[in-house]
Amino acid sequence: ALTEKLTRLVKEMRGQARITEANVQDMLREVRMALLEADVALPVVRDFIARVKDKALGQEVLGSLKPGQALVGIVNKELAATMGDGVADINLAAQPPAVILMAGLQGAGKTTTTAKLAKHLIEKRKKKVLTVSGDVYRPAAIEQLKTVTKQAGAEWFPSTPDQKPRDIATAALDHARRHYFDVLLVDTAGRLAIDEVLMQEIQDLHAVLRPVETLFVVDAMQGQDAVNTARAFKEALPLTGIVLTKLDGDSRGGAALSVRSVTGAPIKFAGVSEKIDGLEVFDAERHAGRILGMGDIVALVEQVSAGVDMEAAQKLAAKVKSGDGFDLNDFLGQLQQMKQMGGLSSLMDKLPSELTAKAGAVDMDRAERDVRRKEGIICSMTAQERRKPELIKATRKKRIADGAGVQVQEVNRLLKEFEQMQGMMKKMKGGGLMKMMKKMGG
Ligand code: GDP
Ligand code: MG
Repeated sequence: ALTEKLTRLVKEMRGQARITEANVQDMLREVRMALLEADVALPVVRDFIARVKDKALGQEVLGSLKPGQALVGIVNKELAATMGDGVADINLAAQPPAVILMAGLQGAGKTTTTAKLAKHLIEKRKKKVLTVSGDVYRPAAIEQLKTVTKQAGAEWFPSTPDQKPRDIATAALDHARRHYFDVLLVDTAGRLAIDEVLMQEIQDLHAVLRPVETLFVVDAMQGQDAVNTARAFKEALPLTGIVLTKLDGDSRGGAALSVRSVTGAPIKFAGVSEKIDGLEVFDAERHAGRILGMGDIVALVEQVSAGVDMEAAQKLAAKVKSGDGFDLNDFLGQLQQMKQMGGLSSLMDKLPSELTAKAGAVDMDRAERDVRRKEGIICSMTAQERRKPELIKATRKKRIADGAGVQVQEVNRLLKEFEQMQGMMKKMKGGGLMKMMKKMGG
């Protein structure tokens, strides 16, 4: 919906001699809504918008042919720059064992992420990894770490609920040193909310362990609250990095921007499934697209070509169009999105052939060549016509064709294509896409 609104605003601005304060205001209002919808915390949104506005007005956007698009570009770039600074991987520059301390609320994904990181360090960095749990409040949590550590192919150091966390830490550190482990991963007790006693405990652990990495693990679904949690942990500990978990869920992941802004620590990894290999290096640019609501289709394509995570793909497919009807405004938005991705045919190349065949009813090559003409045609329609294409009969068609400087046949062709696309969308909504993909998966 954002793309659609921005597209309209871009249209309105195109051809205007200068970009006015009011123009920027309109665009930024939409961006602000998108950020809030993605659950970015309000103060963070305010800061961000102010910064973008400064940049936009300061830069020579005036001379640009499409100032609106330039502004969208600035927003996207600024968002990615805010969230990422290229410091992706784990820092192991310490006298071995390099200690990594995991911090975060209960349920954030600390234990799961500990095992994922162990696997990552073993496979990608060829390290000898030991894990230990300082979660003495729940015996099951210690067992959980043992299980997932085994899955990761790392070694697990036993601890028991009657021990003090700092004694566990000392013993594990000693064991790691004597057995030449490269890395010691320390899982900690979950905090349901910010809790003084537990905060003190993790500070003690930090003092004993002197970790090279103190990672703040945060659930991407946490939304607005993420800011307060992040602030409390930042005040208690010198955080060196963030792991954003559960990005495979529905959330637009605005927590990334909030947490990054509050802690100043780089977002290093993203958790993308419950499974042990569900860890990815955080990609700030892609995440910027997700927050702004422009990355859904790209993400869908990636999921489909990877041919793996059906559930996530299903959610994304539902997101492609979750509103009631697919109308011409949506169609226009799709054209724009596809153009952004480097053309329809390159998109089709990325899709599995069976899906391409299904979509083959739409002539992708011609569509790509004619995108601009189509935009022109849709823009010559009234808002009502775009919402209710069935209104467009002979006289309206003539008026639209004249407005766009094309033949009536071309308007007809566009309407037909729209109907086909609408049919595809309905199929996707009804799970047709999923059925197709399931069949392919055997
Ligand atoms: P902890 O209390 O911080 O140690 O959290 P856990 O590691 O026990 O994780 C809590 C729940 O979240 C578990 O059910 C995990 O399987 C799940 N979880 C953790 N990370 C992810 C993720 O990236 N994606 C999904 N879908 N689930 C996750
Ligand atoms: Mg745990």
